[in-house]
Amino acid sequence: MKINKLHKASCHCGSVVLELTLPNGLDDPRRCSCSMCRKRGAIVASVLLADLKIIKGEDNLGLYQFNTMQAKHYFCKTCGIYTHHQRRSNPHQFAFNVACLEGVNPYELEPVKMYDGIHHPNDTVKL
Ligand SMILES: [Zn+2]
Repeated sequence: MKINKLHKASCHCGSVVLELTLPNGLDDPRRCSCSMCRKRGAIVASVLLADLKIIKGEDNLGLYQFNTMQAKHYFCKTCGIYTHHQRRSNPHQFAFNVACLEGVNPYELEPVKMYDGIHHPNDTVKL
C-alpha cells in the first residue's frame, strides 16, 4: 500500500476530513487491548499533534473520554466512525484510524501487533 507524505483521511460519510503528515509511512501500526479499543477494533498508527490537521468537519467531531479521562477519543457525530485520539501514554501524539486513510485497505496490514493497553504503562507501579 502507498502511504503519501501528506495523506488525507476521512470518516465514512465524508463530514470529517483530516490531513496527516506521514514522512516515514505508518508509525507503529497496532491494535490495543484496552477496554475501549477491544470494542472498537481499529488499527491505529501514531503522529505528532502538529502532524494531524482537521481540514473539514471539526464541529462534527464528538469527544469520548472514560476512566482516567486523559485520552481524548474523537468520532464523527454523523456516521459514528472513530477518526483519531490524543494518546494517554504519549499526550504529544495522536493515534489515528488507519482505515480512514484514503486508498488504504487496513486488512493488508494484518497481522498487526497488539499493544497491551489493558495493562496500561501509566497504571504500572514504578519501583
Ligand atoms: Zn462521518
